[in-house]
Amino acid sequence: MLVKYVVDFSEGSKEQGDLLGGKGANLAEMTKLNLPVPTGFTITTEACLDYLKKKENISSDLNAEIRQHIIKMEKRTQKKLGDALDPLLVSVRSGSKFSMPGMMDTILNLGLNDETVLGLVQKTGDGRFAFDCYRRLLQMFGDVVCGIDKNRFEEQLDFYKSKKRYHSDTDMQAEDWQELVAVYKNIFLEVTHQAFPQNPYEQLMLAVEAVFRSWNNRRAVTYRRLHNISDSLGTAVNIQEMVFGNFGADSGTGVAFTRNPATGEKGIFGEFLLNAQGEDVVAGIRTPQPISELKALMPEVYQEFLTLSQLLESHYRDMQDIEFTIENRKLYFLQTRNGKRTAKSAFKVCIQLVEEGIISKKEALQRINQTMITQLLHPVFEPDELKKAVVFAKGLPASPGAASGTIYFTAEQAKKASEQGEKVILIRQETSPEDIEGMVVSEAIVTSRGGMTSHAAVVARGMGVCCVAGCEEVYVDEFLEQATAGDVILRKGDTISVDGTTGTIYLGSIPYIEGDEWQLLETITGWAKEGASIGVKANAETPADIKTALKLGAQGIGLARTEHMFFGEERIVEIRKMILAENKESLIAPLDRLKEFQKNDFRAMFTLLEGKACTIRLLDPPLHEFLPQTEEEIIHLANETKLTTAEIKHRIEELHEQNPMLGHRGCRLAVTTPEIYEMQVAAIIESAIEVAQKGVILEIVPEIMIPLIGSKEEMAWLRERLEQTIQTIFVKTNQVISYKIGTMLEIPRACLTAEKIAEVSDFFSFGTNDLTQLTYGFSRDDSGKFIGAYQEKKLLKEDPFQHIDEDGVGSLMKIAVDKIRHVDPSITIGVCGEVGGDPQSIRFLKKIGVDYISCSPYRIPAAILTIAQEQ
Ligand code: ADP
Ligand code: MG
Ligand code: MG
Repeated sequence: MLVKYVVDFSEGSKEQGDLLGGKGANLAEMTKLNLPVPTGFTITTEACLDYLKKKENISSDLNAEIRQHIIKMEKRTQKKLGDALDPLLVSVRSGSKFSMPGMMDTILNLGLNDETVLGLVQKTGDGRFAFDCYRRLLQMFGDVVCGIDKNRFEEQLDFYKSKKRYHSDTDMQAEDWQELVAVYKNIFLEVTHQAFPQNPYEQLMLAVEAVFRSWNNRRAVTYRRLHNISDSLGTAVNIQEMVFGNFGADSGTGVAFTRNPATGEKGIFGEFLLNAQGEDVVAGIRTPQPISELKALMPEVYQEFLTLSQLLESHYRDMQDIEFTIENRKLYFLQTRNGKRTAKSAFKVCIQLVEEGIISKKEALQRINQTMITQLLHPVFEPDELKKAVVFAKGLPASPGAASGTIYFTAEQAKKASEQGEKVILIRQETSPEDIEGMVVSEAIVTSRGGMTSHAAVVARGMGVCCVAGCEEVYVDEFLEQATAGDVILRKGDTISVDGTTGTIYLGSIPYIEGDEWQLLETITGWAKEGASIGVKANAETPADIKTALKLGAQGIGLARTEHMFFGEERIVEIRKMILAENKESLIAPLDRLKEFQKNDFRAMFTLLEGKACTIRLLDPPLHEFLPQTEEEIIHLANETKLTTAEIKHRIEELHEQNPMLGHRGCRLAVTTPEIYEMQVAAIIESAIEVAQKGVILEIVPEIMIPLIGSKEEMAWLRERLEQTIQTIFVKTNQVISYKIGTMLEIPRACLTAEKIAEVSDFFSFGTNDLTQLTYGFSRDDSGKFIGAYQEKKLLKEDPFQHIDEDGVGSLMKIAVDKIRHVDPSITIGVCGEVGGDPQSIRFLKKIGVDYISCSPYRIPAAILTIAQEQ
């Protein structure tokens, strides 16, 4: 059997986008629905691929098929292609599976020539109209088929109008257009050395071929690459009878959405132009009128349009973007598709469609994606402005959002400038905990070093502040206060714009759109949580972050990092005193002070959480992170401690480690100085008892988490000591509460011996940052220097700190989960590393059977959604 390369509009359906292209499939669907669609047929994408594969010639089979379908069209329309009295005119419209705006053009009024144009004049009695159509054909055919620069035609039109002192195209009379047609035909001769083809069939075949070939033009190829569209789809070609919006004041053409694509508001939204054709509406030659004005001009047409577009929306069960034309007060539908929309509109429309009973919640959730959430939560640059912006450098998209501001190279300057009301951006080689006050006030944070789990990245994500980390191509000179990329040098006070969603830094300021539609998000995450198989908790410890996390849907805290609570000005002094203590006695005073601080924090946490789960991790980083760095700070500390600066410096040296990440940190600190953890545990238990005693919250079960455990022995020893502390409190307060003591799984050895550790641990939480660092042997802090090269050379598909390394780290995790479940299936296992907030990783983590993931507050909605979509 012959392969069928042509499908009549009456034969296809909307499911056939692959074969008929989006436009063709929807024209067929509308035809099936009995909408007023001008008759026509679609030449399939397969025909296109076949044409491109062979020697680029329309095969005789395809030629014959097209002719047969034209004959059918002629029967239906009672007109004939090339008929000198009543010519059939058609449009030739490209359309692939995915809409590629402006990629491949449309030719209108095909079939006109020197003879048929006169027939059209005769038939319509309107020379102005007929010659306008002809010149449009010459223009579009010249451009699309013969590659003649559109401007060649435009210039001549402008020249003609100014010669005649006309202001607009509507001043052009029949003779004017007729004269211009002659001029246009000369352009053909000049540029292509051939006359404009007069034979309508020849016009048609040339047009079809041009559309086929345009699949491989540079613009189209680039667009596909940018949007990840396969090159092997091909484009379909739609041949359709012309209807005329330029046939006087009772005709017109327009575009409309069934809901507002910017806000989602229900109701028809669009524009039209009277006496216009094709692209006139969008070309900006004349200002279109809002669709509402059609109501007064042509009430019946308006009503019919409302009814039918509503029908289309219900049929497609989504907001439609519709192109229509009115010829002599008769309405025609020329295109429909699911409308492109802003994130806000997408959320609104989904919620409305569920409320209207058109789609299910489950379907609504499938229609939301991560990008929309990001856009809803964080500002984004205005797309048109962004296109014009000049790129300064690229780095890692560490924390989404968009911001413009003036740059500063130290936290202190950033803070000062922001106090003066300036919008500031902090640029540093990398940030450290002391920079926190500068980071808090910054619109955006940029670092030249460090990866997706660097301090800057983690803190920025936590705060929901935009951040680009690891811009290795930028040389940041904090001393000279300048940042250099290529030959561009930025200095303190210069303005830049940072796109944390793409990791791009631009010169100058770019206007942005605020992301502030949290209620919409709450509805969607609420639905997503119904029946979710694994939980989502937050990595948070400050009241502000906890509130954000709860608002965004967290079911509790999966990781409260107690060291984050030590960085306030007063607290750091006490921590430093503790570190400098020479004996157990001098430890007591600073620990007591710290305990009070911690108790305040914990009380606030427990109160805010109202009984929701709360996992608190005891001190984790190496102590030297807390030590003074500058001479000034050392002198200050000397005054506070009665030690000399020399003694302090000596102690700092003593604490220096070759590999601090592998050194004296986490539970190892507690093995040498158990007093620190004992203080922390006492603070946790005492504040839980106090908050519970107030009677508002029924039960608080604190989960105490010990970091960096590698063996059962370590865990057992620490657990015993900490339980003694807890028992003492119970006796002293005459109160008993439930609590849990568990550990992180972040040392490969802990994963491999998890069944043993499970005997002494009430719960587990994977610390994927450290686990990845230790499994790969990639330093979290330095891997930015080489991971890029690994990716370029295809030695690594992706950064394992961004997306879980399923084969390596993932295998270890799976081993640990299986071992633990074997001992006790009811033990809770969570994940609190950065990959816990990464949708791709979540899909994997869900598969290996963790109970919950915990991530920074702003990543919670996307995490909840991912889990729902995987159900
Ligand atoms: P695009 O894919 O760029 O939107 P289309 O194929 O939809 O291109 O054509 C652009 C415009 O040309 C349509 O919106 C419509 O106004 C006009 N057009 C296309 N085909 C016809 C036709 N058969 N009759 C009248 N106008 C048409
Ligand atoms: Mg269109
Ligand atoms: Mg860790």
